[in-house]
Amino acid sequence: MGLVTSLAIDCHGHFTTEPESLRAFRAAQVAFAEGRSTRRPPPPEIEDDELRATVERNQLRQQRERGSDLTILSPRASAMGHHVPDQDIATEWARLSNDLIRRIRDLFPRNFAGVCQLPQTVDGDLDPVLAELERCVGNGFVGCNLNPDPSGGGWSAPPLYDRWWDPLWQAMTRLDVPAMVHVSGSCRPALHTTGGHYLAADTAVFMQLVEGDLFERHPTLRLIIPHGGGAAPYHWGRYRGLAIMLGKPPLSEHLMHNLFLDTCVYHQAGIETLFRVIDPKNLLFGSELLGAVRADDPETGHPFDDTKRYIDALGLDDATRHAVFEGNARRVYPRLDTLLNDLGGPSR
Ligand SMILES: [Zn+2]
Repeated sequence: MGLVTSLAIDCHGHFTTEPESLRAFRAAQVAFAEGRSTRRPPPPEIEDDELRATVERNQLRQQRERGSDLTILSPRASAMGHHVPDQDIATEWARLSNDLIRRIRDLFPRNFAGVCQLPQTVDGDLDPVLAELERCVGNGFVGCNLNPDPSGGGWSAPPLYDRWWDPLWQAMTRLDVPAMVHVSGSCRPALHTTGGHYLAADTAVFMQLVEGDLFERHPTLRLIIPHGGGAAPYHWGRYRGLAIMLGKPPLSEHLMHNLFLDTCVYHQAGIETLFRVIDPKNLLFGSELLGAVRADDPETGHPFDDTKRYIDALGLDDATRHAVFEGNARRVYPRLDTLLNDLGGPSR
């Protein structure tokens, strides 16, 4: 144990053990939205006891087993389903999903903080998105998940540097919340959701940010690219070179005051590359708690997504370790910092 005792704040968790009644509701809701059913289903009744039991059995157990203290929790990303038509449907779905996160947070305030799903749709309007963001932050949420490609693999939305998005960036700046840039499920058979679409989107968005001037125009905006930043750290030289070709400042100036990557990289060599390429001030501990890859690595005997283990093995100095596990998260999510200060000391 070093001199600095840090909380282990996992910035990337999804509620992936939803009650069956929620999944059934969503299936019926999508059938209605797509015209396959004439019955608009009523929202399901989900009791606190049911939520408490599933979270204790899954997310809390895994926090204890792996040594994390608090998970920044959002609805299941692949189920956001922004490609489904009708923004009223998207709003109903986002509200329902976000309210479950709020209830879990209320049941276990030391173990979870909330990040919200936004009611985006293909060619949709930003007004309902802003309204839901505002509502959730009013309910204590500390950030949002933003889908850069609501079409689920068609990439029909404007790039994130396009001024079309400005009302959202302005709202996030005013509310002082960051966004994790996170796509939903793939609608393309050629694009596997967690193995193809997620990592491709992370990489595509990184390049959008290189190309544009988003942070020049919104200097206090903060974005997190998950899954270790997709291919960006591995191809850092390409992006540094492209920035020069495009007449942009060095990436450290152009992006890295505002852009953060998580540690959802599922092997030791990948984590070592991440920490070698990216300044640790830009790295947030994340694991996708109850996540994308649920298997044990036969080479190590440990779960692939137990990412704390890989970071622990780096032998970081105390200050760097504190930054990656706690300090950076408090800086990127100021509302989380306030919540933690209000709660007092660590949970264990
Ligand atoms: Zn995720």
